[in-house]
Amino acid sequence: MTKIILIGIITILGLAIIIEIIARIYIYQGKKMNVSATCYDALMQMLSLKRSELEAEKEKVQFIEAKKYYYHPLQKIIALNDYASTTIYAHLASLHEGGHYRSASENKQKEKMIQFSTIIIAFNRLIVIPYFIIITYMIDFENVPSTLFINVSTAFIIFFIFATILRFIFGLPEEYRASQIALEYIGENYDQKVLKFSKSSYRTFFLQYFFHALLFGVSIPFIYCIIFLIGSLS
Ligand SMILES: [Zn+2]
Repeated sequence: MTKIILIGIITILGLAIIIEIIARIYIYQGKKMNVSATCYDALMQMLSLKRSELEAEKEKVQFIEAKKYYYHPLQKIIALNDYASTTIYAHLASLHEGGHYRSASENKQKEKMIQFSTIIIAFNRLIVIPYFIIITYMIDFENVPSTLFINVSTAFIIFFIFATILRFIFGLPEEYRASQIALEYIGENYDQKVLKFSKSSYRTFFLQYFFHALLFGVSIPFIYCIIFLIGSLS
């Protein structure tokens, strides 16, 4: 059984690495292609924020320049790497983040759910996953782990499974939806070549997210099972 799980994890890891390489090729290509408009202008146009509307909308959404592209559902911030960038990659990333904002704004209940899952997933990423990674290095396989250690790990694994389920039923469809909103805009405003490239890029980025979630979703419970097995061998 352990062998099957290990083979499964290594297969997922292999696929995740291949997708990661393909994603990087798309990013590289996307940075080489340029259009005349800046990504900031494209995003504004997609969100159809006219100057007058922008004032009213400003309370709802903020734009900042940051190292990474992201949408923060709690603070309602859309972060862009460089407002003035005209690369296709910058357009794809900006429009996708705008898609997240659009999608989250579709209805109040959905918005609340996205905010809730963001908090859970953030705690999972900052505390739970590092905990399991650290104990993998720290654990003494010669000795039986303490009951406290097993109890803490059990509480964390339950939280982890809950967060992973949220990631699959909310995070994943939201990633798809955000790109879909961006693609609708790209289909109407860019040429066929850009649209084709955008579809392939978004598909790759989606798979990247999926395999990343799947890799952690399988590996962390596996680490827990090893700890639990050592505990039960006593
Ligand atoms: Zn996204």
